[in-house]
Amino acid sequence: HVNLPVLHEELSAAHAALGDHAAALHHLSETLRLERSRHSAERRQNLQSFEVLHRIQALQDIAEQERHRNDELNVHLQELRALNRRIRELGRTDHLTQLTNREHLFHEGERLAAASTPQRPLAAAIIDIDHFKRINDTWGHQLGDTVLQHTAQLIRSVARPGDVTARYGGEEFTILRPDATAADLAQTCQELQRRMHAHPWQDIIPDLRVTLSIGVADTAHSAPPGPPDFDALVGEADRRLYAAKNAGRDHIRAEA
Ligand code: GH3
Ligand code: MG
Ligand code: MG
Repeated sequence: HVNLPVLHEELSAAHAALGDHAAALHHLSETLRLERSRHSAERRQNLQSFEVLHRIQALQDIAEQERHRNDELNVHLQELRALNRRIRELGRTDHLTQLTNREHLFHEGERLAAASTPQRPLAAAIIDIDHFKRINDTWGHQLGDTVLQHTAQLIRSVARPGDVTARYGGEEFTILRPDATAADLAQTCQELQRRMHAHPWQDIIPDLRVTLSIGVADTAHSAPPGPPDFDALVGEADRRLYAAKNAGRDHIRAEA
């Protein structure tokens, strides 16, 4: 088929040579017709290829846009996740001291008490600032808040990884330590008292002195028989705290 125009052209030349000009003209016009139809077929094919290319390009553009939108959505998703984490964290944090708040303390305490065993007890310390009302009454509530923040920072400074450090309420704090005895946690509390004594309170107010009374207990030695109970543990630590107060304050009590 491709050689047909050439064939007609050669036939036309042969007829012309033989003097048959009508036949020569016929073959020449055949050549022309065949060439024209071949060109228009090529053009149609080119147009179709062009259309296909165009459609591929459009699809690539759409895919690119989708990818871009996906990336944006992913960024938003990460932001939302971070916000969610922050909100959850805020819900668990005491905003004055940045320690765990009371609600989360009880949530964690119940979980840790339930997971404790006689061999791996949960220890709890209740830490109470001595004569805090006097501090408030003498230098004002705002100074009282500053004392709470400094005390919280010192509590954080003695905590071990895995400890829960919380504001129990008012001027009372708690340290929970899983897999530890009262005697073990009492040592940390002694270090806390040492740091309280060494703390430069006088830089805040020249006459300011801040001391702590602390009661420490654990689920193995102080809980009533039966499954470990966080309320009972806190109750025992609280009784020991009051014994420490009665002993003249600035004391730690880690035994019944
Ligand atoms: P004790 O040695 O027996 O513990 O005496 P205390 O004065 O420390 O104890 P008391 O329970 O009599 O007083 C606690 C005070 O803590 C009373 C309350 O106004 C104050 N307080 C509670 N929460 C806050 C707080 O967020 N900021 C300030 N500045 N004071 C608070
Ligand atoms: Mg108190
Ligand atoms: Mg107090």
